Amino acid sequence: MPDRTAVIGAGPAGLAAALEAARHSQVTVLEKNAEPGRKLLLTGSGQCNLTHDGDYRDLLPCYGEAGNFLRQALAARTPGDVIRFFEDSGVPCIREESGKVFPSSRSARDVLNALLERCRELKVSFSCGSAVKEIIRNDQGFTLLLRCGGSFEAQRVILTAGGMSYPATGSSGDGYRLARSLGHTIVPPVPALDGITLSHHPWRELSGLTLRPAEIRVFRQGALVLKHRDDLLITERGLSGPVIINRCGRMHDGDEIEADLSAGRWDAAETASLIRQNGSAGIASALHRLGLPRRMASVLAAEAGLDPKRKAAEIRKTDLAALIKAATSTRFTIASAGSFSRAAATAGGVSLREVDPQRMESRLVKGLFFAGEVLDIDGETGGYNLQAAWSTGYIAGRSCLSEENLIG
Ligand SMILES: Cc1cc2nc3c(=O)[nH]c(=O)nc-3n(C[C@H](O)[C@H](O)[C@H](O)COP(=O)(O)OP(=O)(O)OC[C@H]3O[C@@H](n4cnc5c(N)ncnc54)[C@H](O)[C@@H]3O)c2cc1C
Repeated sequence: MPDRTAVIGAGPAGLAAALEAARHSQVTVLEKNAEPGRKLLLTGSGQCNLTHDGDYRDLLPCYGEAGNFLRQALAARTPGDVIRFFEDSGVPCIREESGKVFPSSRSARDVLNALLERCRELKVSFSCGSAVKEIIRNDQGFTLLLRCGGSFEAQRVILTAGGMSYPATGSSGDGYRLARSLGHTIVPPVPALDGITLSHHPWRELSGLTLRPAEIRVFRQGALVLKHRDDLLITERGLSGPVIINRCGRMHDGDEIEADLSAGRWDAAETASLIRQNGSAGIASALHRLGLPRRMASVLAAEAGLDPKRKAAEIRKTDLAALIKAATSTRFTIASAGSFSRAAATAGGVSLREVDPQRMESRLVKGLFFAGEVLDIDGETGGYNLQAAWSTGYIAGRSCLSEENLIG
């Protein structure tokens, strides 16, 4: 049998892995869809936020506990390397002030086309419409059984079948099933990078409003389990914005969430006296002067049972306390902490304990490699997930060709 590497899944991680592996081996990418990169085309609303610029070490905290695992991959393929790769491939990039990097054309299609062109140059073969249903380990390597019938033999397998979010794009959890069948532990997948739905939503009329910043505190069975500060967006269904979407993977249905619109800045006694100092101004105007959007201030006054136009100087002590409580600790119950149909990423996946971070090789099955979202990795919004896919794909493709994995 010729020396062959099979890549399962033609997403960003699979394409990055194929490009490296193809430098020394015959590579075939098996893709379930009729064409590669369906999810990549949706990224950044079709504009593709392809990485986050900066020193790779500064990116690591944005992956939570997986940051440490990613250190070597990101060092080997930094955001700067990714930008250079695309620019050398005819895709000039622009960096926004926030650090987000996009192709100058704002076209995810250009990013995909550049990858496919590089694959053509390196003679990577594609077998689209080939969903892998089973991986069998044998003496020569692996036999991949296809859902449409038929099989494929390879000495090495790079599993890049993605997570479970946006299942219509093809990543519907097959990667977890395939990895589990080879003995890998799967950290239960949950939606990440999505807004939350509230059981009771008294702020619905404010949907579209952003509080910059706010603090959220999440309680499970009465105990504080999460605290985070960033911009909060009120939506039709509940809450969103970076403060929610970057943490929704750690929230559970039924958790209670407290929103502090002062972002922890208000001391109750001091705030009460500041409101009173506004004398003849209405309560809502007084809250607005303290930094809350006017629409929000009116809703909070009503929530505390007060007429928003009532003069700040006339407000009783107990009413003032109710008003400050509404602004700093209104509690809601989470009906749904995200859904795979809307989430931009999946938290959970192949346990990182069973994967060598230097090679992306399975610690359980020699010749099996992982990259991208199939791993228990999820980053914040801002280009971090694609960066993880490029870096882990690069390492997997490079490592599977090291001496010990080459036949003969
Ligand atoms: C709407 C949306 C917008 C996003 N925007 C951004 C952004 O701007 N920036 C950013 O950094 N991240 C973004 N992300 C996240 C990013 O797209 C993913 O993290 C990234 O695509 C993961 O790459 P991957 O290659 O691991 O998996 P995927 O892109 O999911 O690719 C996996 C591939 O494997 C194939 N496959 C699955 N099962 C099989 C099988 N059994 N056999 C063969 N093939 C199979 C799938 O069809 C798919 O093509 C966004 C996600 C979504 C949903």
